[in-house]
Amino acid sequence: MSKTYVTGFPRIGEKRELKFALEAFWAGNSSFEEVKTVAKTLKERHWHYQKEHHIDFISCNDFTLYDTMLDTTVMLGAIPPRFANIEDKTARYFAMARGDKDRAAMEMTKWFNTNYHYIVPEIHANMTFKVDISKIAEEYLEAKALGFTPKINLVGPLTFLALCNSVDGSDLFSLFDGIVEAYEKVLKAIESLGEGIVVQFDEPLFAKTLEAKFLSLLKIAYDRLGVVSPSLKIAVVTYFDRANEAVEVLGNCPIWAIGLDFVYGEENLKALSHLKDKVLIAGIIDGRNVWKNNLSKTYTLLEQISATVDEQHIILSTSCSLLHVPFSTRFEENMASEVKSRLSFALEKLAELEQINTLWKKRQKPVATECLKKATPLKHAGIFYARSPYATRFLLQQKALNLPLFPTTTIGSFPQTKETRAVRNAYKKGEISQEQYEASLKASIKECVEIQEALGLDVLVHGEFERNDMVEYFGELLEGFAFSQNGWVQSYGSRCVKPPLLYGSVSRKQPLSVDWTVYAQSLTDKPMKGMLTGPVTILNWSFVRDDIPKSEVAFEVAKAIAEEVDDLQRHDIQIIQVDEAAFKEGYPLREEKIKAYEKWAVDSFKASVGTAWDQTQIHTHMCYSNFNDIIDTIERMDADVITIETSRSGNKLLKVFQKANYRAQIGPGVYDIHSPRVPSVEEMSEQIKAFLQVLPKEQLWINPDCGLKTRGWSETKAALTNMIKAVHLAR
Ligand code: GLN
Ligand code: ZN
Repeated sequence: MSKTYVTGFPRIGEKRELKFALEAFWAGNSSFEEVKTVAKTLKERHWHYQKEHHIDFISCNDFTLYDTMLDTTVMLGAIPPRFANIEDKTARYFAMARGDKDRAAMEMTKWFNTNYHYIVPEIHANMTFKVDISKIAEEYLEAKALGFTPKINLVGPLTFLALCNSVDGSDLFSLFDGIVEAYEKVLKAIESLGEGIVVQFDEPLFAKTLEAKFLSLLKIAYDRLGVVSPSLKIAVVTYFDRANEAVEVLGNCPIWAIGLDFVYGEENLKALSHLKDKVLIAGIIDGRNVWKNNLSKTYTLLEQISATVDEQHIILSTSCSLLHVPFSTRFEENMASEVKSRLSFALEKLAELEQINTLWKKRQKPVATECLKKATPLKHAGIFYARSPYATRFLLQQKALNLPLFPTTTIGSFPQTKETRAVRNAYKKGEISQEQYEASLKASIKECVEIQEALGLDVLVHGEFERNDMVEYFGELLEGFAFSQNGWVQSYGSRCVKPPLLYGSVSRKQPLSVDWTVYAQSLTDKPMKGMLTGPVTILNWSFVRDDIPKSEVAFEVAKAIAEEVDDLQRHDIQIIQVDEAAFKEGYPLREEKIKAYEKWAVDSFKASVGTAWDQTQIHTHMCYSNFNDIIDTIERMDADVITIETSRSGNKLLKVFQKANYRAQIGPGVYDIHSPRVPSVEEMSEQIKAFLQVLPKEQLWINPDCGLKTRGWSETKAALTNMIKAVHLAR
């Protein structure tokens, strides 16, 4: 019988206990001892769950009070100098994570192509490392005292190095030697904790398309780490895509095992002949999605693997850490059984590992289960896109809208006050009637329109007061989505998100935004911009069914949005924005997969606005500004206006639009909404001047760089007042 292995386990707790403990501590309402107590209970509980399912390899140090990358920074003693003078270790740790009154937090960014965010290490030239394994030792001994023998999870040195931010611009590679030396010390220290400890090095970096240099460093690193101690068993684990180049290297390193993801990197099958004598940790249970494992498919996969790898050398594993899925479906008391019966969260995945292992041992091939819905290829072959070329549309829209030079607008949402949220929650709980809710929303919209008119904005919005989230709102109104009660997934630190479950066929059974938009338009003579979320963003922020290709799902969503676009324009809404905030997030890690992603992403965006008449102006918004690699793709989306997040990078990143000879209109954010600071008129005038060095004046819109929902009203009004003054000067 093979052994079973779990790459990592969620830590936030089945009822988000860690979140609440941390937040109480941060708010000064409890002591750090209380946080530690909760943490201890959670770790113990999680180990027990894994034991119940006879998991042979469970982990320690996958737990963290904030983030495992930050823990790695601490383990290596790579504390940025700006935090070095904080004596208290706990205070320093949370200051790095969240900032304190004197310092900004360390930067945070997305962990590969997931929605988990890690704390970016800050390094500089001549940095020295000072190893500290106290957290690891504590967790390992904690487990030992409870009768468990866990492996120890570490972020691997190459992944760590590649994700570092060099604050002085010094070459990352110059620190390679120092980092490997520090890891050697870590292993030496771990050796003294016990006999035969398994150390898992996470190296997801190698699932990316990389420069050859990383592969040669991989060899050097594990040639060294593999021989630190004869008593340690070193496993190097990759995930999220194929990592066959790394296998060729690691097969020749003195390590014990290699972990590969066969769910998101089936191509790894071709790398198996390079494993040499290494044990294979075979990632066969999807650690990133929430649907039940397809047993017969997984069994076939195991047959394929065992054609090359000796059975004694195969360990069955999750494809990656279970951090990326919710805890358990057992808390879903209200969910339709049609949906619930198809779900598998972290706990259920443990059972799946156990189950497949049992079948595999008995060589009992499961009967192929009927797919719920067979893929219907070519359904979207002829997507509906009836728009004329941009130049034609531009003239028609100019005539219809008659906008001034440098039209001003906002990205959609206005401040969501406590009162706004309270009313929405009361309505959801049934505490106020539909009439009361609608009256309250209308009052908010009216006030928002009046404020925008008074400010002198050219294109207005209704303010999005009915939405708590730009994906959830649409998911709730569309067919094919379900919502869990407790399906929380850690996003960063104590923050969790509850992604919608896109489980079925998507369709629009009712208007999504027409009433609010039409009401808002009735209050003003200025054009009212309709606000929708695009198909790519809806998919990237949901758990998407995996029984049919993603592109098929995207087109179903696109069709629903396209119906809404048409409905809006038939109600005299002349401008419609389809947000693609997460367009870039979905990019594959492997270069050869990018084309296919771009194809369905662009096509489904176009399909979502394909019903727009030529005189209906289509906007899109994206929450970033680096388009260097994807400018052609952005161009192919064919929006009339794109608003983006340039404010923090000046016009540096805009040059790519100039270089690409981009014709359509662009609204580069003129100020940063992520901070309450109100920029002066002069500052924004400078920014506009900078934009005009790169963009022809006819192409330029002026707007903030993202939605305003997290801001307060006073700073919002002040900033927009200055923005409009700057625009008047520019005109
Ligand atoms: N229209 C949305 C808003 O203004 C866009 C949000 C986003 O880009 N993340 O809130
Ligand atoms: Zn944005």
